[in-house]
Amino acid sequence: MIAERLDAVRSGLPSTVRLVAVSKFHPAESVIEAYRAGQRHFGENRVQEMVGKAEALQDICPELQWHQIGTLQRNKVKYIAPFVSLIESVDSIKLVEEIERQAERVGRVIDILLQVHVAAEETKSGFASNELLEAARLLATPGAYPHIRTCGLMGMGTLTSDEERIRSDFRQIRHLFSSLKQGCFATSPHFCQLSMGMSGDYRIAIEEGSTSVRIGTAIFGERNHI
Ligand SMILES: *Cc1c(COP(=O)(O)O)cnc(C)c1O
Repeated sequence: MIAERLDAVRSGLPSTVRLVAVSKFHPAESVIEAYRAGQRHFGENRVQEMVGKAEALQDICPELQWHQIGTLQRNKVKYIAPFVSLIESVDSIKLVEEIERQAERVGRVIDILLQVHVAAEETKSGFASNELLEAARLLATPGAYPHIRTCGLMGMGTLTSDEERIRSDFRQIRHLFSSLKQGCFATSPHFCQLSMGMSGDYRIAIEEGSTSVRIGTAIFGERNHI
């Protein structure tokens, strides 16, 4: 079932777009099933759940790469620093500083995306456009954060059935991405990822320039939130 849904999603993606399978609230067995079907990137939004699955699966799924996609509390960075592949939800400079500290402690360089807030919902996190420029400038300063590599932006569209609204949100994120790529990250070869699009809106996100989609429900089915 999961393998078939994965195939269906993959067949709709351009080969240049990366698929991150969002396994939050789904058991480790589902992750194994997707891994055996060739999936390598997985997203989780809660640290405890990611750490639990990472420990359970490290021998069974040695090539698995974990993406942190949910709000990350500073005091939890230390739990994922040893193994996380990409932190997509960086939303403050204080969090950047803690990631730098923990990455140095474990002797790694950690890849991050800056999360941008453009959606209508106040509950969604991320940098507002004006704060984003400031954070980007700090991160792009040579030598400022030697254990962090800034690889691009992540953003979400407004939760609405209005496709034009979603499209304009994605366009705004893409615009911010392009201006940073040509601006303070112009000399950074790593600043090339634009993570936009979930089960309900990834087709629009790809049309608007997404390079990485985060898809849960369309692969694993509905989540049973507790
Ligand atoms: C849960 C989640 C997703 C996946 O959502 P689906 O609608 O199940 O595809 C993507 N991105 C983030 C940040 C999420 O929290």
